[in-house]
Amino acid sequence: MAARIIDGKAMAQDLRAKIADAAAALTRTTGIVPGLAVVLVGNDPASEVYVRTKSKAVVDAGMRSFDHKLAAETPEAELIALVGRLNADPAVHGILVQLPLPPPIDATRVLNTIDPGKDVDGFHPVNAGRLATGLPALVPCTPLGCVRLAKAAHPALAGMEAVVIGRSNIVGKPLAQLLLAENCTVTIAHSRTRDLPAVCRRADLLFAAVGRPEMVRGGWIKPGATVIDVGINRVAGEAGKTRLVGDVAFAEARQVAGAITPVPGGVGPMTIACVILNTLRAACAALGVAAPDL
Ligand code: NDP
Repeated sequence: MAARIIDGKAMAQDLRAKIADAAAALTRTTGIVPGLAVVLVGNDPASEVYVRTKSKAVVDAGMRSFDHKLAAETPEAELIALVGRLNADPAVHGILVQLPLPPPIDATRVLNTIDPGKDVDGFHPVNAGRLATGLPALVPCTPLGCVRLAKAAHPALAGMEAVVIGRSNIVGKPLAQLLLAENCTVTIAHSRTRDLPAVCRRADLLFAAVGRPEMVRGGWIKPGATVIDVGINRVAGEAGKTRLVGDVAFAEARQVAGAITPVPGGVGPMTIACVILNTLRAACAALGVAAPDL
């Protein structure tokens, strides 16, 4: 039987509506509108789309969006100075610097200057450390979305074998930490992993965050497993057009898995919803108000 499709778009819409309600309640009680500053450097077309999508999601949720578009030649010191001003601005509760940053800007140096309390991407070492040690933290948005999608198939993840392919600081590692916190037995696979198909076949929950189109084949999947596909890869389509595919060969995987996320319409929309969720959480923390359990 074909796998159930986990509808990330519908789940994201539902979450965004709840965040908008909670943001409105926060504004009613405190008079403060949560605000997200989005910083884009250069003209990368994909980044421009992401930034527009995030800003629109923020405004749709009744929050304020402060957009800063800087030229590709902007010196690193100028970008860091802008981050400093945003850190000090009480109307800004979240700061998001869109990656990748054009060379020679050092992204790590820039991200490390963001106030950890406003770090809605969760990339600052303070937040990474807090997540790893089980303290409250702002957690990277894509992993947050992935866990929510997995829970749509299995509300209780405890005891499950989870395999995460990819060990980046923005997806693989924080996702593994979240799954550990859910009491999964977690394996992180990467480019040096031996016999990756066999490792994947152990997984009750398989997360692919690799950046290689349709690398994970149907035969790598344990029958009935839940598959969360993080990959976004643009490949040649019909009639000279391009199309998006994930890191999982969807048509094959769907015949074996129990539940699977599509690309597009899976992890992507949940990532955006979690950006505004983190903005709401950062605003609540800044105002000393308990964040709603959404
Ligand atoms: P990175 O390039 O930073 O990391 C890729 C990881 O995949 C690395 O750990 C690498 O291993 C591993 N890898 C590469 N080749 C193989 C292989 N042949 N076998 C096993 N592992 C391999 O990517 P990101 O984590 O930033 O992103 C991963 C994917 O997720 C991309 O397609 C990206 O576009 C997408 N993405 C989607 C988001 C969304 O909102 N849906 C958000 C963020 C990313 P090693 O460490 O050994 O090099």
